[in-house]
Amino acid sequence: MEKEQLIFIDDSVRAWLASLDDIIPALIDEMVTTTKKNRFDLVTNVDKTIQQRFQQFLTETFPEHQLFAEEKTNEEVHPHEGHVWIMDPIDGTANLVKQQEDYCIILGYFVDGVPMLSYIYDYPHGKLYKAVKGYGAYVNGAPLEKPESIELKDAVVSFNALVINANKMQELFDASFSHRFIGSCGLDSVRVINGQFGLHINTNPKPWDIAAQFLFASELGLKMTTLDNKPLDYATAGPFIISNPGCHEEMLDVLNSGAGYKK
Ligand code: NAP
Ligand code: CA
Ligand code: CA
Repeated sequence: MEKEQLIFIDDSVRAWLASLDDIIPALIDEMVTTTKKNRFDLVTNVDKTIQQRFQQFLTETFPEHQLFAEEKTNEEVHPHEGHVWIMDPIDGTANLVKQQEDYCIILGYFVDGVPMLSYIYDYPHGKLYKAVKGYGAYVNGAPLEKPESIELKDAVVSFNALVINANKMQELFDASFSHRFIGSCGLDSVRVINGQFGLHINTNPKPWDIAAQFLFASELGLKMTTLDNKPLDYATAGPFIISNPGCHEEMLDVLNSGAGYKK
């Protein structure tokens, strides 16, 4: 893809993301929350409206681009073919509902299976993280450095404690520096991207939870794999780790040793 075309798409999408600043406050003021599969599985008018607006933006600006997103069925989408956007309109919906903080918008743009542009918009803190294939990663336009290597014993590790058995939790506490969990796959991953956390694990993500992280990882020298240390397919997702290169292998060794991590 021509550089000019990529710049045009980037400019257009950043303008669209900026337009959200005018509508999110009103959407939150009139927030309506409904449940999906169970009482913990939430969706709001904020998630639905943001996704609808992005679909409308694509239809008007890039009509040949497909949208693969959380609040739709995606049956008609061929995720490895042509121009594909993968979107989580709100990642951290429980945080949005309970705290009005620590949620983000995730966007990954793929052309014939190759990640070209990625965005994680930390709206409550006014920070837009962006990665461009071949041109690095940025926060609000300022370049991000590759994080320095972090050994597991010095690393803050992030994962949902509900999905790891008690024995493995103790082993992970012993092997690492400490545990923190924000509750947004995108923002927990941003902490790894920034070099604050050593790693983030989600044992059951969907494509929209991890779509953007691929390009940040490749541009910043981070590891992003399955929990068996295999390549991840963005179209199917599944158990994943994004990690500083200094603790990736040791973390997976500890995680999978003995009886493993599953409950
Ligand atoms: P959460 O605060 O609702 O969500 C934290 C993060 O995980 C968000 O990025 C969220 O995305 C995503 N998420 C939501 N449902 C998930 C699911 N079923 N599996 C994997 N990621 C999910 O709460 P949570 O405590 O992490 O998880 C919500 C439920 O999913 C709980 O019942 C938990 O046991 C179960 N679960 C979580 C994981 C994990 O590794 N996080 C793994 C397996 C099962 P959205 O805000 O876009 O929904
Ligand atoms: Ca999500
Ligand atoms: Ca979501």
